[in-house]
Amino acid sequence: MPARTGKDYLAGLREQRREIYLGGQRVEDVTAFPGLANGARSVAALYDMQHDPALRDEMTYTSPTTGQRVGLSFITPKTTDDLARRRVMMSHWAHTSFGMMGRTPDFLNTSLMAMAGAGDYFAQNRPEFRQNIIDYYEYVREHDLVLTHTLVNLQRNRAAPGTPLDDRTEVALSVIRESDEGIVVRGPRVLATLGPLADEIAVYPARSHRLPGTALDRYAFAFAIPCGAPGLRFLCRESYDLGRSRFDHPLGSRFEEMDAIVFFDDVLVPWKRVFLYGDTELCNNLAMATNQYAHSGHQVVTKNVAKCEFVVGLANLVVKTLGSESAPHVQVMLAELIEDLEITKALLCAAEVHATLDRWGVMCPARAPITVARNLFIRMYPRMAEIIQLLGSSSLMALPGEADFSGPLGRKIEEYLETDTANARDRVQLFHLAWDVACSAFGSRQVLYERFFQGDWMRNATLLYSTYDVEPLMQQVRRFMMGRS
Ligand SMILES: Cc1cc2nc3c(=O)[nH]c(=O)nc-3n(C[C@H](O)[C@H](O)[C@H](O)COP(=O)(O)OP(=O)(O)OC[C@H]3O[C@@H](n4cnc5c(N)ncnc54)[C@H](O)[C@@H]3O)c2cc1C
Repeated sequence: MPARTGKDYLAGLREQRREIYLGGQRVEDVTAFPGLANGARSVAALYDMQHDPALRDEMTYTSPTTGQRVGLSFITPKTTDDLARRRVMMSHWAHTSFGMMGRTPDFLNTSLMAMAGAGDYFAQNRPEFRQNIIDYYEYVREHDLVLTHTLVNLQRNRAAPGTPLDDRTEVALSVIRESDEGIVVRGPRVLATLGPLADEIAVYPARSHRLPGTALDRYAFAFAIPCGAPGLRFLCRESYDLGRSRFDHPLGSRFEEMDAIVFFDDVLVPWKRVFLYGDTELCNNLAMATNQYAHSGHQVVTKNVAKCEFVVGLANLVVKTLGSESAPHVQVMLAELIEDLEITKALLCAAEVHATLDRWGVMCPARAPITVARNLFIRMYPRMAEIIQLLGSSSLMALPGEADFSGPLGRKIEEYLETDTANARDRVQLFHLAWDVACSAFGSRQVLYERFFQGDWMRNATLLYSTYDVEPLMQQVRRFMMGRS
């Protein structure tokens, strides 16, 4: 099957029966359910872009196995040009939501490609796992499926990090039995962003949450199954698409990608869908050894550039509307946003310029700039939202709804809320957007997402420190002290 259209994607969601719960109810059809349907429509629009004649060549490439046009985020890059093409494609998708949908399908398409490209890594566990991951990647690519993933175990207690994965643990996802058909897993995982809107769910270890060396075999695995697999249940948080107009909730009404807890109630994972099992070390090293982290990072940083651009544009419109742009401290904040954008762009560029063929023969974005860009954004984005609050001030709250313009106070709103540069309606519309970035539940979730979706800042900083080669730098200093340079 070639790259899907939005219609194909929505039909796929309707065809696969799955157990999704939201607000105490079972969701029968996510494509029609209030709070989820608009997010599904936004994902569908991404798929339609693959068939836009003006974009087709930038969005798709020729499948190496079927000769059909398939999504370009699946490409196995062999050259830096391939990386640049992939970035252009991902940038098109990122700009549709200005990075507010972090989990456009390219995020996991690049991850899956990296794992399949490094198939021999999985063969070290069991020879057949190599073909399993390659077959799965090709299946997802040729059917143009949407994946979600859930990597983190719930924990009863965080006081003693790394110790719980033994027989005393009852809340981590684990294998409860094996049979000729496959492994059977039981337990919960957090979170699955896009879970209710995905076709398949991948489960593998988080780079940031290493399994302790003492972890039993049954906690160490990587697999993927359809979201409709019997026994799989998704429990959504409340939706931040409150059914309001695009004027009132410009982001929440379009880009709700939803996060869910996933319960696995004795779910059978067929052997063909098992990629790792029972090897703690291979599980712990998967993300770095296969370069999954660098390839998904290529998507993350591309998305971050779109998000930075959007916030720079928004912040400048805010100050121009308020007439505050000549205040020095306002300019300092605007400059900070520009710095964030330019640093993020430069790191993305550096990752491509310094890309190298990895040991698996895949062109891999340079790891250090990708990692630094990912880590920095954990701090940058909360500050960006804060700057929007600081620049917007009471205008983020002096905010009539769309309906108020035609209500009894409409004339007063028109008269008193205009500024020297904007009429009342334009001002209010702009500040609804700023509010959805910096104040609404949707905006707060964006901040939390950027803080945590790739692991907490401390673990990420520690991982960067422990993998960065500082030896040559220390040598330079030693040589200087010995008077040799
Ligand atoms: C909006 C959102 C979407 C997400 N989407 C996904 C998804 O699609 N798939 C997925 O797999 N995961 C997802 N996550 C989960 C994400 O991977 C985790 O939140 C993240 O790895 C942190 O784990 P945790 O939430 O268990 O918090 P913890 O790691 O337990 O951290 C909680 C707090 O305790 C501190 N802490 C506790 N123990 C330690 C420790 N040992 N070392 C360092 N600090 C510690 C942390 O610094 C933090 O302040 C998402 C999270 C959010 C917020």
